[in-house]
Amino acid sequence: MGEPVYAKIAVVGCGLIGSSVVRAARESGVAGRIAVAETSPVARERIVALELADAVFEDAAEAVADADLVLFAVPVMSMETAARAAAPGLKPGVTITDVGSVKQHVAHALIAAVPDTAFVIPGHPIAGTEQSGPDAGFAELFQNRWTILTPQARDDAPYREAVARLSAFWSGIGARVEEMDAKHHDLVLAITSHLPHLIAYNIVGTAADLEGVAEAEVMKYSAGGFRDFTRIAASDPTMWRDVFLTNKDAVLEVLGRFTEDLQALSRAIRWGEGDKLFELFSRTREIRRGIVAMGQESAEPNFGRDRGKH
Ligand code: NAP
Repeated sequence: MGEPVYAKIAVVGCGLIGSSVVRAARESGVAGRIAVAETSPVARERIVALELADAVFEDAAEAVADADLVLFAVPVMSMETAARAAAPGLKPGVTITDVGSVKQHVAHALIAAVPDTAFVIPGHPIAGTEQSGPDAGFAELFQNRWTILTPQARDDAPYREAVARLSAFWSGIGARVEEMDAKHHDLVLAITSHLPHLIAYNIVGTAADLEGVAEAEVMKYSAGGFRDFTRIAASDPTMWRDVFLTNKDAVLEVLGRFTEDLQALSRAIRWGEGDKLFELFSRTREIRRGIVAMGQESAEPNFGRDRGKH
């Protein structure tokens, strides 16, 4: 176990992602003490039963007292409420971060909610599953996955030191860390994560409503591709509602492009243009091979969970 990067951390919201950070921080030794704040009484009970943290609170201000790092792991649209609740307990010089899937919206929310003495460094681990709650988390979730930090545009030494320290924290729990502009993050994630989820929600909804095909048949023959969409479409409704409402511009932009490309495909099928289809399917196969070559191919939901880790 290495030296703690922070003497005390507080995690506000301890569901799938928050509890995975807590578990990983414990196992790796990057945090001295760990406090958790959770509004859900059921989740609090589970966190205590699983002995995940040194202290568990309902009130975020109590949990963050004396913390050197406060990490918000609540749904994107709850970030501001959670940060406002924590604000009275924050010590000067504390680093404030989060794991929200949308970065511009969260950056504004956090900066508005906490005192100027705090260093706000938004972040997003590109790792997760379709599960929710503290029982679903596991320490290995971030291993070899990217965590994107979207620091503010300031280069004063204390702020840059805070960024370096937060980066060391994520590296310490196994992640690879990259810095990015928040707007760029939101565009990249709109195509790599948000749109795929929207497509999955849509295709599963369409199949459920399709006349002439029984629901039993949809389930029985799901191995033909549909099954993978149903896994994604099982993702948390609150989390994903918040993502689409707060990353509206980028999602609508990539959705527009997607719709145009889908029209072109539909035309190629109608006119029997096999070459066009073959050329696209060959290019996409190369992209998949590239992902495998980069070691990012493992199906995250099965990683760790199959081994019964918590
Ligand atoms: P989750 O399992 O539902 O956990 C969120 C927890 O936060 C819930 O227990 C929730 O309680 C609690 N909470 C809500 N508002 C709160 C508040 N104001 N103060 C304290 N606790 C509060 O969700 P998750 O999947 O971990 O997602 C958390 C964040 O991570 C989201 O911003 C999401 O965008 C981001 N993220 C998720 C994934 C993923 O794959 N799931 C991946 C990367 C990033 P209630 O149930 O009572 O509301």
